[in-house]
Amino acid sequence: MMRALLLLTALGAVRCLAAEFDLVLAYGRVMDPATNLDAVRHVGVKDGKVVAISETPLTGDRVVDVGGLIVSPGFIDLHAHGQTTSDLQIKAQDGVTTALELEGGVYPVAEWYASMEGTAPIHYGATVGHISARFSAFHPQLKTGQWASGKAKLALLGPNPAGANKPAGKAEMKSMSAAIRAGLDDGALGIGFGINYTPAATTEEIESLFRIAAEQKVPAFVHTRAFGIAPVREAIDAAKKTGASLHIVHIGSSAIGDMPDVLKLIDQNRAAGMDLTTEVYPYTAASTLLESAMFNPGWQDNLRITYGDIMWTATGERLTQESFERYRKQGGWVIMYMMKDANVEMAIAHPGVMIASDGVPFVDGKGHPRGAGTFARVLGRYSREKKLLPLMEALAKMTILPAKRLEAHVPMMKRKGRLAVGADADITVFDPAKVIDRATFEAPTTSSAGIPHVIVGGGFVVRDGELLKEARPGRPVRAH
Ligand SMILES: [Zn+2]
Repeated sequence: MMRALLLLTALGAVRCLAAEFDLVLAYGRVMDPATNLDAVRHVGVKDGKVVAISETPLTGDRVVDVGGLIVSPGFIDLHAHGQTTSDLQIKAQDGVTTALELEGGVYPVAEWYASMEGTAPIHYGATVGHISARFSAFHPQLKTGQWASGKAKLALLGPNPAGANKPAGKAEMKSMSAAIRAGLDDGALGIGFGINYTPAATTEEIESLFRIAAEQKVPAFVHTRAFGIAPVREAIDAAKKTGASLHIVHIGSSAIGDMPDVLKLIDQNRAAGMDLTTEVYPYTAASTLLESAMFNPGWQDNLRITYGDIMWTATGERLTQESFERYRKQGGWVIMYMMKDANVEMAIAHPGVMIASDGVPFVDGKGHPRGAGTFARVLGRYSREKKLLPLMEALAKMTILPAKRLEAHVPMMKRKGRLAVGADADITVFDPAKVIDRATFEAPTTSSAGIPHVIVGGGFVVRDGELLKEARPGRPVRAH
């Protein structure tokens, strides 16, 4: 008896009285990529934290039998533009418990965090965005702008807005640097860049802002200047020169046909000790705003596509030269069919490449399905059906790897992406035989299937497969 008690104590599962735990997930198969634990365990949650992971049953205020299901750390999405309550609810149903806007970023940062308070079913956070800071420098009338959400109403600035297309002089550089420093002071998670959207930003401009990232010890999250290997090299060289740590976003669309060489280039630099990471979303089409500078003249060569490869999201129609010009003036979301499955699959399976959705805001139920189905799609289609990568590895790419990408400068991320005693109780429970995405380009907001429970900070957001519409347990993720 004594021995058994000692053993239980050693397992962190001291025999307990009722109500020792607020919640117990009983009999689930716990998979924790941080430790490679893969075994049936009972998980005890109290005050929003995981406080016990036990081989023997636990009692608590509420015990949910999750036998036959996988209990995983909640998924962390490093690339989530859609940050409305409804966008985040759709993400929760895909198993995401933390959704961060790191590529586009926001500005001003403090106002954005304040605006999110009480609205979020899952945790949220953002970088300070170079695009927004640059547009604010050139267009002071844009007082606030989460550019990527379209709130800045880019199309209202007319063709060729200066924020994207004019080289920065001393005054604009000063304004941008000050904006970025202020954002970091306000707790932003790094600096976001979309160089393709600000083509007038020279390599020198990017380097001077990378220097701030290096000095403040935060990463630069970068959508490169163009597609293919040369602009990836530009970003890597700038990071090396300035000492900034670098995360290249959506390598599927950034590398397109150059994927094998781009992955090799990234691996070589990582092996040489560079703090360099990347991510991919599991789809062969991209999505952005048609009025953006990505569609400045020359876009066909850059994206390696033409009019008919672009879909106007609102109606589903493919574009012609005439409708392209008309809609570009109006402004709105498009989907570009521009990638090959083989290249996307190569990135998904590649060691160290994280999974991130790049989900853009859904407008009237229209948009890109990646905002709803990315994580279940990797688990169901690419891991289970295509056997592209083992389940544990797939989970690592959506939990511990993104947590580690941030934790050096965002201490609270040390408690996320893990299922361990002391971790935040952000937990995704899914059925390994059934988890699958259901969102399509025709019905992009359809929630994923096979994810019965999603717990954020100890509270359910999805329970028994149902979204709890009023649940708002999401808290800000800040660097400090
Ligand atoms: Zn992007």
